Amino acid sequence: MDAMQRERYSRQILFPAIGEQGQERLLAAHAVIAGCGALGSFHAAALARAGVGRLTIIDRDYVEPSNLHRQFLFEEEDAEAALPKAAAAARRIARINSSVQVRPAIADLTPANVDELLGGAGIILDGTDNFETRYLINDFAVSRGIPWIYGAAVAAYGLTMPVIPRHTACLRCVYPEPPAGAQPTCETAGVLGAIVSAVASLQVADALRILATGEVHARITTLDVWGGIVRQVEGPSRDPDCPCCARGEFPHLERRARAPVILCGRNAVQVEGSGPLALTTLAGRLESLGPVRVNEYVLRAQFNGYDVTVFADGRAIIKGTSDMGFARSLYARYIG
Ligand SMILES: [Zn+2]
Repeated sequence: MDAMQRERYSRQILFPAIGEQGQERLLAAHAVIAGCGALGSFHAAALARAGVGRLTIIDRDYVEPSNLHRQFLFEEEDAEAALPKAAAAARRIARINSSVQVRPAIADLTPANVDELLGGAGIILDGTDNFETRYLINDFAVSRGIPWIYGAAVAAYGLTMPVIPRHTACLRCVYPEPPAGAQPTCETAGVLGAIVSAVASLQVADALRILATGEVHARITTLDVWGGIVRQVEGPSRDPDCPCCARGEFPHLERRARAPVILCGRNAVQVEGSGPLALTTLAGRLESLGPVRVNEYVLRAQFNGYDVTVFADGRAIIKGTSDMGFARSLYARYIG
């Protein structure tokens, strides 16, 4: 650590549990933020300010005006330009702490890319909005021995749980299977910025503690910021027969192909492409159908009453339908 770093992080170094040694560990650490919506944008800003040396920020979506009341990293300009969240976050983090190395990944975290995106992580923070991705993270983290911090928030309610593989309970020790049926989402039940910040803040504190000391206080915390209720389950115990952390079965890593995904509550479907696309060439093809805007990350086109966003990795989000078959055929017909 040099003199400028010692000054910059001085108030954190004064906190005895971190100290100089803990700060050195943070500066050398690599945290992966899986999902950069409301939770993830808090994680990214807080970890960058705390001096975590490397951040990988993964997100599949773009900034919309309805994100701005709770997703602290993003600004009106980002929503107007429909910037991918990972790219907008990287740009903002560079202004918050220019010494942090940020790798933005504009991608959907899937079994096919999980190794590349999460492989070098010292810790993974859950900023996702769906159980499919959380079970994927849990399987990957346990299989590699990487700590991760589960977090979720909707309406005024949220919860968080840190997982240190083979030391604390994993997600599947506590919830062996993803919940059945439709779950409330921020799009259907709404969400308060205050619950997101509260949950994300607990996740960040656990991440800093794990990175600086290797230890964490195992518990599940549930919060209701409107009702003013905080509950904790101390040290949830490991299931000695857990399929994941005891028996070493990782089925969520093995699902190779993903069907189109309905983006819950948004009347939109995500379609996986078969590979990278030249967005400017595609823009030329779509221009006769309606308005098209393109930048280095993303193309947006409106035609036939649909709002179509295509990412450079070939993925598309088709707004205006929740019919997966229709979305796939629209993709095949107009995009590739
Ligand atoms: Zn387990």
